[in-house]
Formats: sequence, C-alpha cells, structure tokens
Amino acid sequence: VSAISDEEAAARAAAVNADSGAPTIFDKIISKEIPSTIVYEDEAVLAFRDISPQAPVHVLVIPKLRDGLTELGKAEKRHEEILGRLLYAAKIVAEKEGIIDGFRVVVNSGPSACQSVYHLHLHVLGGRQMKWPPG
Ligand code: IMP
Repeated sequence: VSAISDEEAAARAAAVNADSGAPTIFDKIISKEIPSTIVYEDEAVLAFRDISPQAPVHVLVIPKLRDGLTELGKAEKRHEEILGRLLYAAKIVAEKEGIIDGFRVVVNSGPSACQSVYHLHLHVLGGRQMKWPPG
C-alpha cells in the first residue's frame, strides 16, 4: 500500500526544481502562449480559472513577475507590496464572480501542503458550502 497519495507524490516531484528558476506553466499563461480564461488583470496581477476546479468558482491569482516568489514560504520583506496586491485582487475576483458573501482563499506553500506549481498563487474558491478543516 502506497504511503503517499498521487497528489503528494506530484507535489514532491514539483518541489525538486522549485528553486532552479525554471519557468513554470504559469509563465506560459502570463505570456498567453497557453490559453486561459482571465477573470481579472492589472499591471502586476493576473487571475484566471483553474483548469481543475475544486468548486463552482476556482480562480488562481498570481503575480505577473515571480521575482523569487516560488512559494509563500520564500517571501521576503520586499514582497510585501505584491502580497497585498494579490490579496486585494482576490477580493476583486470574489466580487466579480458573485461570491463576495462567502469565499475561501488558499495558498499551498511547499510539498507538505501539496503545492504543485512553484510560482506563488492564491486559490479563490467559492460557489458552494466550504468545509472546515480542509484536508
Ligand atoms: P497548487 O497545487 O496549490 O500548486 O495549485 C496549482 C493549481 O494550478 C492546481 O489547482 C492546478 O489545477 C492548476 N493548474 C495547473 N496547470 C494549469 C493550467 O494550465 N491552467 C490553469 N490552471 C492550472
């Protein structure tokens, strides 16, 4: 019997190259090489629908410039402004998506949290009743 789930194994594999500076799939989404459904965009932030939605509304909010922010656990003082912008963009997304009365913002940081893409992103989830605690 496997001790870890596929999701966990994929997250651990993804973490191996996290600090290499290698582009992630999100760079291709930012450059529009890979199509995405954009929900909100400004000069610093891009928000687009998750390809594998875990709720009726599931949007990812990312900084256009990764600037070392592979994961929240790598954030530094100089990232304070972009971190604030991302959280505020999550609120704008919730408003646009009609879930402002109840939504969840999740950041998975590192393999133990099952982070699978090493470019910081906020998950904005809503449109159904959320459960607590998360898995
Ligand atoms: P993480 O597991 O917190 O790192 O979240 C990564 C998210 O990116 C997952 O929810 C994936 O479904 C999502 N994702 C991966 N590739 C794409 C894509 O090409 N378009 C949109 N979402 C993606």
